[in-house]
Amino acid sequence: MKNSGKPSSKKPKIIPRAAHTVSRNDISGSALKVLYRLHKSGYQAFLVGGCVRDALLGLHPKDFDIATNATPEEVRSLFSNCRLIGRRFRLAHIRFGREIIETATFRAAAIHKDDDVAHDDEGRILRDNVYGTIDEDVWRRDFTCNALYYNIADFSIWDFTDGVKDIERRRLVLIGDPVQRLREDPVRMLRAVRFAAKLDFTIDDSVVAAMHKNVGLLTNVPAARLFDEFMKLFQSGHAEKTFDLLREHGLFAEMFPATDQELNEDDTFVEFVKAALQNSDRRVAAGKSVTPMFLLGVFLWAPIKRIAAIRRSEEKMSEAQSLSLAAYEISSEQQRRIAIPRRFTVPMREMLALQPRFQTMRGRRAMNLLEHRRFRAAYDFMMLLSDVGKVDEEIADFWTEAQTLSVDDRAERFQIDAKPRARRRRRRRRRPSKSGSRA
Ligand code: ATP
Ligand code: MG
Repeated sequence: MKNSGKPSSKKPKIIPRAAHTVSRNDISGSALKVLYRLHKSGYQAFLVGGCVRDALLGLHPKDFDIATNATPEEVRSLFSNCRLIGRRFRLAHIRFGREIIETATFRAAAIHKDDDVAHDDEGRILRDNVYGTIDEDVWRRDFTCNALYYNIADFSIWDFTDGVKDIERRRLVLIGDPVQRLREDPVRMLRAVRFAAKLDFTIDDSVVAAMHKNVGLLTNVPAARLFDEFMKLFQSGHAEKTFDLLREHGLFAEMFPATDQELNEDDTFVEFVKAALQNSDRRVAAGKSVTPMFLLGVFLWAPIKRIAAIRRSEEKMSEAQSLSLAAYEISSEQQRRIAIPRRFTVPMREMLALQPRFQTMRGRRAMNLLEHRRFRAAYDFMMLLSDVGKVDEEIADFWTEAQTLSVDDRAERFQIDAKPRARRRRRRRRRPSKSGSRA
């Protein structure tokens, strides 16, 4: 098989500056400073990973990773703005204002067939912390397109794995034996999907076959790491494509089992989720912010509705209460797969519990909804439900218009007449309040 094994003696193909399209204009000034200083101090210094890949594809790389033969301590001694992070494997973070240039010392891969200590029973990497040379560093990387090194010494690209060819073919090919590489780190399956969606690449058949045999291994990945990956998968502007690919390869079911079950049974829910993903992609494209709590609410909506209905049939409670309770139950269950921080689950519950309140369009309580701190998110959510026919159009139109009204016009729109308020005030005046004030 191509690229298999760990031929650490293999020489790289060196592509001279004249034969590739990566220009220094594509590279951040801060990254160039680090590269040049390392080089002038006698070390090897390369850009590596996503930035080289993206620059070759004519995309604008967003972050720049550097690989060098200088040890972290040597890097630190060259830069006053440098901090070493990580205990097991130390990385240098060199800060320029808000930009951080991550600089890693070449590392040897932990792939030693005869070294059982470095892997757990399923083949996951447990140890990956030996410094090495560039021709060792390359074999621990995931895809061939992510394993290209741009050499600041002469602006050439070092290609050990035919990465440039795979970029031209727009293919995601794992370095080495695909099954073994996925077992070492099952998150690589999600990374395959993420890059396929972002770069419009095809996942190589060899990788697809290995993925299909190993989807179950995702359950071994710590829930906190899956949350990080969830963010990258769904916040990068290619959420819809990512979602389709995750489902196609059976990965979505591993991440969101309850959601997946509902998707299989309910086409309208699929439509709703897709509408939300498209909406989110449009927001990213327009440079607007996206919050993970919104998409989590979308994914968990059908399972939450189902449990809410059950809870309501068991016990007397309002629809909002049942939704809040069900949201709590379902998100706790979801936490076992993906560790969602409370700062997202709490607003998500609020957003979902507000949904029944859109049904009421008169009275003070209804009008106060406009001032609720989750109104905006809850409204956007309701509009998506309306897009797929789950909320009446009149309701959607009412709330769209209500926001545009002045405070006085609102009162009229919500049919709040001054009289009952005056009456209430009179009544209150007759009853002395406990605190003595009317605040
Ligand atoms: P992007 O920044 O666009 O998400 P990237 O390729 O730079 O993509 P990073 O997560 O920033 O991805 O990782 C940088 C590089 O580190 C990758 O290109 C790859 O070479 C290596 N790498 C990252 N994660 C893994 C992994 N799980 N297994 C093997 N190599 C990895
Ligand atoms: Mg990167």
